[in-house]
Amino acid sequence: MEYFEKTIKTERKYTGNIINVEKLTVLLPNGKEATRDVVRHPGAAVVIPVKDNGNILLVKQYRKPCDMISLEIPAGKLDKGEDPVVCAERELAEETGYHARKLQKVMTIHSAPGFSDEVLHMYVATGLTKCEACPDDDEFITCGEYPLSDCVYMVDNGEITDAKTIIGIFLADRIIRGEYKSS
Ligand SMILES: [Mg+2]
Repeated sequence: MEYFEKTIKTERKYTGNIINVEKLTVLLPNGKEATRDVVRHPGAAVVIPVKDNGNILLVKQYRKPCDMISLEIPAGKLDKGEDPVVCAERELAEETGYHARKLQKVMTIHSAPGFSDEVLHMYVATGLTKCEACPDDDEFITCGEYPLSDCVYMVDNGEITDAKTIIGIFLADRIIRGEYKSS
């Protein structure tokens, strides 16, 4: 079975500050043509900050696309050519005001492969020490500290709906139970 789709035409439909949108014409394995709408994204680093007492740091912010307040693990998009671990360190400090002695890569996530190439590089941050929080000018963020059991409860009852955060919380739960072995 051949699955590859060869791109035969690319049309830029929108150029944005964070994302670009392309309409691709592709050649299917059966020789027919089809179109694919693709959101191009620079990728992001995502951090699960676990304090020495086992609590998780989450940030609360307004998410305009969904018009809701969302409780999430810290994250931010990569600058051009930036090493994801450098981005993770920066976003953690900016959004939570904590510095991590250890950042361990745990997972790579394709957040929406049906329509976007966005990749999330996920890290667990431990050995956290306080520094100065300095969110971007357009970010209004409150950082809070939550017991892991509360985080799991908020996923179960639908208070937390952000996908990367749900993954991060379940992963932290496995790590703390000793069920997670990194490869
Ligand atoms: Mg952010």
